[in-house]
Amino acid sequence: MAREEGVRFCYGRRTAAWGALAGTALLAQYLPSTAALGQWGPAETLPLGLCRWRGPAQLPRVALTFDDGPDPRSTPRVLDALDRLDVRATFFLVGARARAHPELVEEVARRGHEVASHGDRHVSHLLRPPWCVRQDLERARATLAGLGCDPSWYRPPYGHVTGATLVAARAAGLATVLWSAWGREWTSSSPHEVAARVVRRLRPGAIVLLHDGEAFGPPGMSKVVLGALPLVADALDRAGLEPVTLSGVCAARPLGKVHSDVPPAIGAPR
Ligand SMILES: [Zn+2]
Repeated sequence: MAREEGVRFCYGRRTAAWGALAGTALLAQYLPSTAALGQWGPAETLPLGLCRWRGPAQLPRVALTFDDGPDPRSTPRVLDALDRLDVRATFFLVGARARAHPELVEEVARRGHEVASHGDRHVSHLLRPPWCVRQDLERARATLAGLGCDPSWYRPPYGHVTGATLVAARAAGLATVLWSAWGREWTSSSPHEVAARVVRRLRPGAIVLLHDGEAFGPPGMSKVVLGALPLVADALDRAGLEPVTLSGVCAARPLGKVHSDVPPAIGAPR
């Protein structure tokens, strides 16, 4: 009888240990998926800079960022609009689309904008194993490097962050970035509404999420963005906020990369 009880006790302890291990692994993988909520909080980043929502508020600067390009239907028009407004921005490019339209990647960089990574295939990380996530980031990095770009920043598709996302981004030498203001242009056909959503949350250090590509949203989304851009630029001007690149806002040295701490002259590419 005593022996049976001993076996049951050992078995119970082993099951509890495996349960605790599995629970910890699940927590490490999926707790970061709440990171998107950080856009409504006051923090700039997760501890250790694992994921960023906004830049420092010391300088009156804001980063406009565009996801999902390059897209031949809309990226050139967004680039022209930014030129007309004399705004430099950051483009989170999708690796597979960059391979299909390399000339647009070069055009983005040539016009003084910052190139960042949005992964290779624009797939959510929530149900993907860590090695697939890592492969996706690596492939995008290699594509952009082959086109002469050396991104510092990574934004996961749909803002879905997992533990594997954070580890893979670190391994690829990229800092994970979400946003602190967004236009949610996929939900509205009104440029005024989209601009108002962004403007409400403009403050020093803000990181604004917009889209220059339509591949993963409803058709016509970029038209709404094009209509909203002058309204946002006007609001920035009135608030005394300068739109610069993400590295310009964060003045960061993500993961050992060197960025100048000296603010460039007004109007210079940054
Ligand atoms: Zn996207």
